Amino acid sequence: MANKIMSINAGSSSLKFQLFGMPEEELLVKGLFERIGLEEEMGFSYSMKDEKVKTTIKGKTHEDAINFLLHFLLDRKILMSLQELAGVGHRVAHGGEDFKKSSLVNLEALKKIKDLGKLAPLHNPVNVVGIEALQKELPDCPQVAVFDTSYHQTMEAKNYVYPLPYRFYEEDSVRRYGFHGTSHQFVASEAASFLGKPLESLKIVSCHLGNGASICGIKDGKSVITSMGFTPLAGLMMGTRCGDIDPSIIPFLQKEKNLSADDMDKLMNGESGFKGITEFSSDTRDIISEAENGNERAQLALDMFTGRVKQTIGAYAAELDGLDVLIFTAGIGENSAIIRERICENMTFFGIQLDESQNQQGSMRISTEASKVEVLVVETNEELMIVRDTYNLI
Ligand code: AMP
Repeated sequence: MANKIMSINAGSSSLKFQLFGMPEEELLVKGLFERIGLEEEMGFSYSMKDEKVKTTIKGKTHEDAINFLLHFLLDRKILMSLQELAGVGHRVAHGGEDFKKSSLVNLEALKKIKDLGKLAPLHNPVNVVGIEALQKELPDCPQVAVFDTSYHQTMEAKNYVYPLPYRFYEEDSVRRYGFHGTSHQFVASEAASFLGKPLESLKIVSCHLGNGASICGIKDGKSVITSMGFTPLAGLMMGTRCGDIDPSIIPFLQKEKNLSADDMDKLMNGESGFKGITEFSSDTRDIISEAENGNERAQLALDMFTGRVKQTIGAYAAELDGLDVLIFTAGIGENSAIIRERICENMTFFGIQLDESQNQQGSMRISTEASKVEVLVVETNEELMIVRDTYNLI
């Protein structure tokens, strides 16, 4: 019986996959192809049950990776036949205003996803490569696109139009889209289940703090406001991205340093944030340990990051007219007690009180009994969300 669903997340030189048995949501195998296209071989690693393997395979393209993957699933008897695969869900970066929710990939949808490459030139085209590679191997298997942007399509115009001449919105689609939607949606729904309350009854601020970071204000189960914008460069300071800065700095530096638009783009996306401030790492683990050794730049970077997160939580609580649940998720949010503590300190005005020992232990609820706001650490699982959406759509 066809009851297995696979998620695919294709990057420029990588392809991640997870295969689930549905509707039990049983993870059967997950893995990653990396360094695709760089040499004659690519890296392949996978894990299932207690088995973890890292190796290399021959091949240069995403198609080679998909082809290998399908043979691997059959050879290892994870699938008895490809007919068991009921559908494949793809992570797609940008759905623009066309995709307000996940969508079956037909010819029309695929064309729209390609056209949206204009708004996400680094991501949508490689997502399309993943879709087309699978279509070629499995022409009869339904495929679904799940967009990073679609959850935020519920924002009102006042929260997504930029105060630029309005024609740039109308003619060039310049507006706030927001990203990490799959993650914010997933953790909000997990938080509501954990609390045993209807999602629609909760005012939630979700902090997805990883190498990329964004915050989302959620009311009635819907995204009301989010910190990323036209691109994932906006909002918080991140591993290598600057987040919000005075826009005048851009033409100023271009003139002063004789930099092109592309140079500026690279600088703001790849050389800023934690890396730009510390000049030694974009990884918060290194930065926390250097700050403990007295490195002032590391300390400054942490103060800047936690300060911006705190300010955004405050702003979003104002937007939501209150706050019931504060969620921390992703690499930093799930793993760093010290950063969660820094963000939540001096927030008693908002009714936030952290339980120090629960926070250190990494429990799911890290607020005290007396705290008016439930502070939760929720593990994000975008792949599971992709698979759920795919299962529901097909
Ligand atoms: P993600 O993009 O969600 O995979 O998150 C990756 C980031 O999480 C890395 O840049 C690390 O800095 C951060 N991270 C992972 N584990 C820890 C930890 N124990 N403490 C602080 N940061 C962590």
